[in-house]
Amino acid sequence: MIRPKVVIIGAGFGGLNAARALDPIADVTLIDRHNFQTFLPLLYQVATAGLAADHVAHPVRSALRKTSVKFRMSSPVEIDHAQRVLTLESNERISFDYLVLAVGSATNDFKIPGVAEFSKGMKSVSEALTIRSLIMRRFEGLCQSDDDQKLSISVVGGGPTGVEMAGAIAELAQGPLTSDAAAAAQKIEVNLIEAGPRLLPSFSEKLSERTRVDLAKLGVRVLVSAAVAEVTENHIRLMSGDVLESQVTIWAAGVTSPEIVERLNMPMHAGRIEIQPTLQVVGLPHCFAIGDVAGAKDSAGKLLPMVAPVAIQQAKFLADQIKKASIDQPLANFVYRDKGSMATIGRHKAVVESGKLRLSGPIAWYAWLWLHLFYLLGGRNKIGTMADWTWNYLTFDRSNRHIMDIS
Ligand SMILES: Cc1cc2nc3c(=O)[nH]c(=O)nc-3n(C[C@H](O)[C@H](O)[C@H](O)COP(=O)(O)OP(=O)(O)OC[C@H]3O[C@@H](n4cnc5c(N)ncnc54)[C@H](O)[C@@H]3O)c2cc1C
Repeated sequence: MIRPKVVIIGAGFGGLNAARALDPIADVTLIDRHNFQTFLPLLYQVATAGLAADHVAHPVRSALRKTSVKFRMSSPVEIDHAQRVLTLESNERISFDYLVLAVGSATNDFKIPGVAEFSKGMKSVSEALTIRSLIMRRFEGLCQSDDDQKLSISVVGGGPTGVEMAGAIAELAQGPLTSDAAAAAQKIEVNLIEAGPRLLPSFSEKLSERTRVDLAKLGVRVLVSAAVAEVTENHIRLMSGDVLESQVTIWAAGVTSPEIVERLNMPMHAGRIEIQPTLQVVGLPHCFAIGDVAGAKDSAGKLLPMVAPVAIQQAKFLADQIKKASIDQPLANFVYRDKGSMATIGRHKAVVESGKLRLSGPIAWYAWLWLHLFYLLGGRNKIGTMADWTWNYLTFDRSNRHIMDIS
């Protein structure tokens, strides 16, 4: 059988899994602007000093070591569909039979004034480190001042990322920062702001209420039905007209497709690449899209959630599709198997929902820990994460509180 040439853009959950699944049957080139894969689900722990940054980043070349997949650290600038050639920023031109777009998602500011300028996104290791430095620098400022000035940290977006982030900041303030300088730590306030009527809207109402109660126990002020109208350097103005103090604003309120998708002239629908149920891009049968960027729908016509299991399942399915396409067999339709959702709120506090199973508290928290450890790439990252978690658990401390952006 002739091995088709496949080019995959994006080495995240979707792209990396697709490259490995395709390796036995295709000549694959994988492209990413980073030389590492980011384990996004644990990024909030980097931002809140619970984990060292390198534990959530795994070198792409290490992940490809036992394969014949080629890797290029670059970004595409143009696709010539007639010639089936992709041009990279480095000017290299790569020919392909099939192209796979797996570029993930980008922070969506919904064009709300001030969001892009004054809030911090949570989509990359460097953004997580920026948030960590910002919080720790502000804390050092509190330690040096005698006045009553508070530090308000606001997380916007009550989905899993926002909930995890708000809980982790509150625990950082109550634990390690209180041990460092209690008077300064007591001046830290944490807000979680959600536009909809409840937190974790994709979970049952019961678990959503449990999450609100657990966050309140950690001292987080939860605001629901509170849509943000404007963010400024030190404030957030809500649609209701209320104004909150916020010296640090973290934006976890929504995602859209990365800018590259528009540049490559992909057909779009609802902020994602418009695809057929076969994962082929509409009007471009030699192109496929998977993961966050792909507008795949469930049987009710609802867009699939932007979560890692969707990207991973699509990656494995894609390998079969390309195999079929290359021998002129009809393609099948992708069906997502939803195994459930989980979010952690803090020590011994998490929620898990899988079909009719609903868990909260310590059991859910241990399930969350083990699942995330299982999916982390690389033995060193697993061991490092386990070491950091064990240390944090036993000592109530977080050792990654460094401000490292000073030369
Ligand atoms: C903070 C956070 C927490 C999350 N927590 C969870 C969770 O707990 N559970 C869960 O299931 N999901 C979680 N998600 C969602 C999950 O991470 C995504 O659904 C998943 O990463 C999607 O995989 P993907 O392959 O589509 O994109 P990604 O994994 O984001 O990979 C996209 C890749 O494309 C590359 N790329 C982008 N643009 C370019 C370009 N122009 N040129 C070259 N390369 C490019 C990027 O560098 C990246 O490596 C979380 C996401 C975030 C941001």
